[in-house]
Amino acid sequence: MSTATLPRILTGVPANGFISFAQHEAIHGAMPVLSRSRHDNALDLELTESGLRGQGGAGFPTAIKLRAVARARGRAVVVANGCEGDPASSKDRLLLERLPHLLIDGALLAARAVGARDIVIAVGEHATHAERAVEVALSERHDLRSGSPRVRVVIVPHGYVSGQENALVNFLNGGPAKPTAIPPRVFERGVGGRPTLVDNVETLAHIALIARHGAAWFRELGTTEEPGSRLVSVSGAIAYPGVYEIESGAPLSALISAAGGVTTRVQAFLLGGYAGTWVHPELGLQLGLSDTQLAASGATLGAGIVVALPTSACVVAELAHVADWLAGESAGQCGPCINGLAAIAATLQGVQHGTAGDAPLEQLARWASLVRGRGACGHPDGVAQLVASALSLFAEEFADHARHGICDGCARRRILPVSSPLARRFAA
Ligand code: SF4
Repeated sequence: MSTATLPRILTGVPANGFISFAQHEAIHGAMPVLSRSRHDNALDLELTESGLRGQGGAGFPTAIKLRAVARARGRAVVVANGCEGDPASSKDRLLLERLPHLLIDGALLAARAVGARDIVIAVGEHATHAERAVEVALSERHDLRSGSPRVRVVIVPHGYVSGQENALVNFLNGGPAKPTAIPPRVFERGVGGRPTLVDNVETLAHIALIARHGAAWFRELGTTEEPGSRLVSVSGAIAYPGVYEIESGAPLSALISAAGGVTTRVQAFLLGGYAGTWVHPELGLQLGLSDTQLAASGATLGAGIVVALPTSACVVAELAHVADWLAGESAGQCGPCINGLAAIAATLQGVQHGTAGDAPLEQLARWASLVRGRGACGHPDGVAQLVASALSLFAEEFADHARHGICDGCARRRILPVSSPLARRFAA
């Protein structure tokens, strides 16, 4: 770990309202003009050397994505993806509502690098203040003169899968915000049939900083494989739930300390949100928060989500509740997703109430393995991962519930949120 300082992205984040363009430039300086010609794409070069990966969950190398769009035939489009479908995540909302200029900078720089004349900033409908914050920010931009890309803000219906790259493009093309079968891939034919770069808004904020300070600066923090910093949404039994910027690879214990520590005994940490993995607290607190380090425990950080589940909560009730919601979030297009997720949700309800019949845990494990890889998108795989991981870590609790039905914890308020992100205290 290095001695380079944090925060980077969250520098100057206001407790209320959003940062003005003048404040933004006072903190970060003016947006640089980087060379872009057929043989010299300065942003591509810096991004390649920086090792920046997408922060929306997939972790794909940003430079490769950018290059694919720049090389595709036709005038490109850039989409800043701020849809954030996982209810346990609030980092994108924070950026849109508090620090809109950073992601606008990133979108403008990316547009120049891929030769785009159109930028779409996609905002999830649940982020109620984001549209106004971004619209006001755009009105302040005296650098958006004639000849600059056209920028428009689009509100996207909230849904767990609506922020997936091709669901979002489908929506922007006039269809429902549902994933479509691949190909064509959006980098070849996306919005309006044109090559489209879809980048998460946090990724664009990193691009804005890398363009100013360079790849070597970015690599002063983080691990060799996953350099830099990243935003993490922390919730559950935590003194100060909120969005924190951490050095990639920092131990979970350091993040929890920064968030004021846990408020009670914790039975598990959920890493990576609702497509993620449950880890025992003793193991979890020692883990380094990068996907490479977490891989040994079968976990990822996904879009940067950590939830601390207190011992007072019933994990079976929590999972049954979330699985029911996730089954309802299926886009209803693929049989294994529609039927498989509904069967998982119904079985979990049966386990919670002790009415699931014969061998329900074996049935759950079987459903979880059957739905993997069987949808047009990764939604069933994510649910299967969440359920299989819970069955593995909490085998005793699930067996007890299947035999005896509801427990005291079932009546308590749920820790895991569904449908709309939690209101959070933002932390810099
Ligand atoms: S797998 Fe599920 S969520 Fe994904 S496209 Fe198919 S039906 Fe929709």
